[in-house]
Amino acid sequence: MFRRFRPYFRYLLENRGPLSAAIFYGLLFGVTSGLGLPALVKYVFPPIFDRQDPPLASSTIWLIAASVPVLFLLRAVTGYLNSYYVSLTGVRILEAVRLDYFRKLQWLPLSFLQRKASGDLISRGLADTAQLQFTLSLVANDGVKQPMQLLGALGFLLWQAFTTDGALLVLVCLAVVPLTVLPVHYVGKKIVKRALEVQSQLGDMSSQFVENLAAAREVRAFGLEQREIERFSQATRGLVVAQMKTVKYAQALTPAIEILSGAGIAASLVFAYDAGVKWDTFFAIITALYLCYEPIKKIGYLNTELNRGTASLDRLEHVLHEPVTITDPAQPKPVTRLRGNIAFTDVTFSYGEAPALSGVNAAIPAGTVCALVGPSGAGKSTFANLVPRFFEVGAGAVTIDGIDVRAMRLADLRNNIALVSQEPVLFNDTIYNNLALGKAAASRDEIMAAARSAHADEFISKLPQGHDTIVGERGALLSGGQKQRIAIARAFLRHAPILILDEATSALDSDSEAAVQDALRKLVVGKTVLIIAHRFSTIRDASMILVFDQGRIVAQGNHASLYAGNALYKSLYDRQQGAV
Ligand code: ADP
Repeated sequence: MFRRFRPYFRYLLENRGPLSAAIFYGLLFGVTSGLGLPALVKYVFPPIFDRQDPPLASSTIWLIAASVPVLFLLRAVTGYLNSYYVSLTGVRILEAVRLDYFRKLQWLPLSFLQRKASGDLISRGLADTAQLQFTLSLVANDGVKQPMQLLGALGFLLWQAFTTDGALLVLVCLAVVPLTVLPVHYVGKKIVKRALEVQSQLGDMSSQFVENLAAAREVRAFGLEQREIERFSQATRGLVVAQMKTVKYAQALTPAIEILSGAGIAASLVFAYDAGVKWDTFFAIITALYLCYEPIKKIGYLNTELNRGTASLDRLEHVLHEPVTITDPAQPKPVTRLRGNIAFTDVTFSYGEAPALSGVNAAIPAGTVCALVGPSGAGKSTFANLVPRFFEVGAGAVTIDGIDVRAMRLADLRNNIALVSQEPVLFNDTIYNNLALGKAAASRDEIMAAARSAHADEFISKLPQGHDTIVGERGALLSGGQKQRIAIARAFLRHAPILILDEATSALDSDSEAAVQDALRKLVVGKTVLIIAHRFSTIRDASMILVFDQGRIVAQGNHASLYAGNALYKSLYDRQQGAV
């Protein structure tokens, strides 16, 4: 099992300082407890009980008595320092693992993230890393202290076996020690599977949390409160059941070890009587024995936690080991500013089994405003998403200015593309900072100019704190049209030669609508634009239209030629005209 954790020892190495301190104090703790306590009983106390003639000087008695608090003080201080440094190591490790996990999430392909519930990914990043920290710090903690105490106590027992007449007794007692390891082994095996179940239930519960909060409006609108509560209560009940299964085994461990130890002590008593062992030897041995069982108990618990940790590690590694398939090429073509000639050659792509695009060919010359039209699910978004290489083509190639998108550095490629999505996402930050995301190191003047071009300054200046207004989570404090204008301002700021526009399906209020349309008209000038178009007013103005159906481009042309020559296009257009 330790092998599983080996790749993570580098985290321990990075924390060499506190770790060495932890181990040093752990060693001292082991010696003071395992060896010190029984030695005290055997060698320091006897003068107090063996009434001597002449009686002991009271200063000697005080000195002997004082050895007890001194030893306990040593034990307490070394134990404390050991725990302190172990926790420090643990917290630092947790920080490193979480950061690695988060870093990995930034680079994982979208296709992977879309397959996973975000609540589950959050739970892995928080609960599983916490479990791992707990395990790691426990290993570092009891992993040092307890074996040391065990070794100290065993050392004392062996020493007694050779130096006193109670050798047989010592051996009998020692025989019980390996027996107590049996339940530890048995319980450990039972725990792994159940621990995995607990963490996965925790993941389910988090998913429901996230889903519920994201759908707060729908829950109220459709009166789903009761249903949601029931669904959540099922998830929590599942967690309770899974947790109790681990408790059943974990909690049986200590009593099992204690019963076996009790039997060991009973056997020792009988042998001690038969062998006529003196009381000081006997109590010293019992003390040493007790000091042996305690570490075994703790090591047993450690074993349980190691198993839980392994389960969490499995869940983290599922993400950490997921290959990052969309990466920079080994020898990237140097790219600065592209002109924006986009070409698809025999492109095939599928998310799963069924192809979302098959045999797609298209050439979109630089400076063209190209509308992507077709029924829902036809493949328009997929087509647009292949240009910034959000997904990797299955076959064929996407090129810009004749360069395969896979041959460029991702940062170079994406620097040349601006994206305005249907529901722009804003971070819970000021308007100004949200705008600034459009371009690294943009000056204040540039940002203000972009806001003006997007007609965003009109509403920004009316906000209580202007550009410094915090927009709330996902921009909750702004209207749909306002968010759109922020997104357009970002695109202005980015000033990229290629623009991908996912047109909003929902209608905006008429003021916003006019402002957004005007801003967009200015934005598209001189750029290669892909519009996932839902409105035929937009489509009519496009210089090129691609009609999608079932993952293929079935027609291409301008509005007039398509309306006259393509039945699908005509029916889509007429349907929308009728709806308006
Ligand atoms: P459109 O934009 O024309 O509505 P899409 O490009 O979004 O169509 O989808 C094309 C096909 O791919 C659809 O059948 C859709 O169900 C499927 N699809 C889209 N996104 C995903 C995804 N993330 N995972 C699996 N299938 C998807």
